[in-house]
Amino acid sequence: MPLAPGLPKDAVFAALADARGGDADWRRGRTFSLVYFAGDESLEVIRHAYAAYIHENGLSLDAFPSLRRFERDVIRDACALFGGAATGSMTSGGTESVLMAMKAARDWARVHRPGATTPTVIVPVSAHPAFDKAAHTLGVSLVKVPLGADLRADVAAMAAAIDADTILLVGTAFTFPHGVVDDIPAIATLAAARGLLCHVDACLGGFVLAFAAEAGHEAVDFDFRVPGVTSLSCDLHKYGYAAKGASLVLYRDRALRLHQFFATVDWPGGLYGSPTMAGTRPGGAIAAAWAIQRYLGHDGYVRLTRLVLDTAAALRAGIAAIPGLRLLGDPRHSVLAFTGEGLDVFAVDERMRKLGWHLDRLQTPSGVQMIVSPAHAGVVDEFLRDLGVVTAEVKEGGLAAEADGAIYGALATLPDRGLVRELVLGWIDGTDDVG
Ligand SMILES: *Cc1c(COP(=O)(O)O)cnc(C)c1O
Repeated sequence: MPLAPGLPKDAVFAALADARGGDADWRRGRTFSLVYFAGDESLEVIRHAYAAYIHENGLSLDAFPSLRRFERDVIRDACALFGGAATGSMTSGGTESVLMAMKAARDWARVHRPGATTPTVIVPVSAHPAFDKAAHTLGVSLVKVPLGADLRADVAAMAAAIDADTILLVGTAFTFPHGVVDDIPAIATLAAARGLLCHVDACLGGFVLAFAAEAGHEAVDFDFRVPGVTSLSCDLHKYGYAAKGASLVLYRDRALRLHQFFATVDWPGGLYGSPTMAGTRPGGAIAAAWAIQRYLGHDGYVRLTRLVLDTAAALRAGIAAIPGLRLLGDPRHSVLAFTGEGLDVFAVDERMRKLGWHLDRLQTPSGVQMIVSPAHAGVVDEFLRDLGVVTAEVKEGGLAAEADGAIYGALATLPDRGLVRELVLGWIDGTDDVG
C-alpha cells in the first residue's frame, strides 16, 4: 500500500492545530502532572533552542562539539548543585536515568560483590515503576519493603532485607505518590556500613529541593552532601523546566559511571561505544536543557521554586480545611496527595474531572495526587472552591464513583493482581490499535 499523497505545509499545520483540541489544557493549570510550564518566556527559550538543534545528533559529540559543550555545562553545574558529584550523563528521561544507575550497579557488583550471584536491589514500595522496568530489563530482582506510617521508607525493614545478594539500596526525594522525602541519610549510612551502593531518585524533587532553603522553605539532606550516596537521578524535563527528553544521572565516582557505558568493537560498521541506552540522541533536548539553565540561572530557579512551594502550601492548607478530605503523610514540598474520610475519594475525583481538573489517582490507600507547578499559582482559589463544593456533594449525598473512577477503585482492590496486569497490558495493546 502506498502512503497518502503529500499535502501543502499549511494544510499539515492546520491539521496539527486541529488535532490538539481534545488535549490536556496545561497552559491554564488544569493538569497536575506531565507538564511543567514555567511561563511564556521560558517556553520561548526552550522552543528556540530545540528548533535550532532539531537535526543535530548527540550520538556523535565529535561531529557536534557544541552539544558536547552544552552537555558538559549541564552536568558540571548539576554535579556542583547536588553537593559534589564527580560526573554523570544526560539521558532521555527519568526512566533511562534509573535504568542506567541500575545497570551501573549491576555491572559494578559483578566486580565488587562476586558473592551476589542473583543480585537484588532493595526499594521502598513507593519507588517509581522505572525501577521495576529496569530490574526486569537487566535481570536484577527487586526486594520491596513497605512504608512506615509516615509513608516514607521503613529503613529498619530495608536493613532487615539486606543479604549476600543485595547490591543497592534506593531512596526517593521526593516520592511520586505522596511527595514525601525518604530518610536519605539513614539509607545511605546503612548502605555504606554494609558496603553497598545507594541511589537517590531525585527525578521529581531534585530541582525543587536544591533551591528550597533559598526559597524560604524546608531544606532536607538528599544529595551527595550525604555520605554514602553513590548515584542520583534528576529530571531536567520536570522541575528543571527543560523540553521533554532530558534527565541526568550523576555519580560520586567516575569509576562507577564506567559500569554504565557500553562498547562493542567487532562490528563491521566500526568501533561502537555509547554512554546510555539511546543511540541517536536528539540535539534539541540537550540544547534546550542548556538554554533554559542559562536563561533562568540560579535566581530564576529560586524564584520558580518559591512560587511552586508557596502554591503547594496554600493547596495543602485549603485541602486540609475541607471536611471529608485528609492529606496523606506530611508532604512539605510540591507534590501532595489526599484521601477521603468517610467518603469515596474517586467520586470526588470524577466530579473534578467533569469540571476540567485532571488529577492523578493513587491506590493502597486510595487517593488523589497533585504535582504542583508554576502554572497552578493562579488557580488555587478556583481549584479549592470547586474541590470544596464537589466534596460536600459527595459527602452529603453519600455518592460513589460511577464511571472510570469506579473501575479504577475496583481494579485497585481486586486481589488477583495477575488479572489486573493482563488488563493493563491489553489496554496498552488497544490504545495504539491500527487495524
Ligand atoms: C517521573 C519520575 C521518574 C521517571 O521519569 P520519566 O521522565 O517519566 O521517565 C522516576 N522517578 C520519579 C520519582 C519520577 O517522578
